Amino acid sequence: MPIQQTLSIIKPDATRRNITGKIIARLEDSGLRVVAQKRIHLSREMAESFYEVHKDRPFYNDLVSFMISGPVVVQVLEGEEAVTKNRDVMGATNPAEAAPNTIRKDFAESIEANSAHGSDSEENAKNEIKFLFDDSEIVG
Ligand code: ADP
Ligand code: MG
Repeated sequence: MPIQQTLSIIKPDATRRNITGKIIARLEDSGLRVVAQKRIHLSREMAESFYEVHKDRPFYNDLVSFMISGPVVVQVLEGEEAVTKNRDVMGATNPAEAAPNTIRKDFAESIEANSAHGSDSEENAKNEIKFLFDDSEIVG
């Protein structure tokens, strides 16, 4: 199975509730390794750009406001099938539909404040990692 990298974000609802460690433990317990990590406060411009694919969706403005409402932890995860594995550990976007023992089932507050982001393809993962990290910040 191929070793991949994927971009993970622990969202402001989770930093606010002081549960970043619990979420990172779920990711590490799945076999994923954190190879880059920093706590940052996204600017509005960065959040708008990051979620540009959703700019025509009705939830876009609220999503951007939420993502800049507090600090986030951005991280690069590495491992076998990391893109899919991260999304499996996160669970469905809507916590009401997320499988048992997933991050979103256990920690999300709502479909918007759903505690974690994960890239949805290897190509998007590469672009999202480049958007948030310099090569020198990624240490395998
Ligand atoms: P995912 O994060 O699971 O890849 P999407 O890419 O579809 O989901 O959406 C990006 C983010 O936008 C979600 O994680 C969530 O924070 C927010 N979001 C998605 N759908 C809705 C919705 N119907 N109402 C409010 N916020 C939403
Ligand atoms: Mg998505």
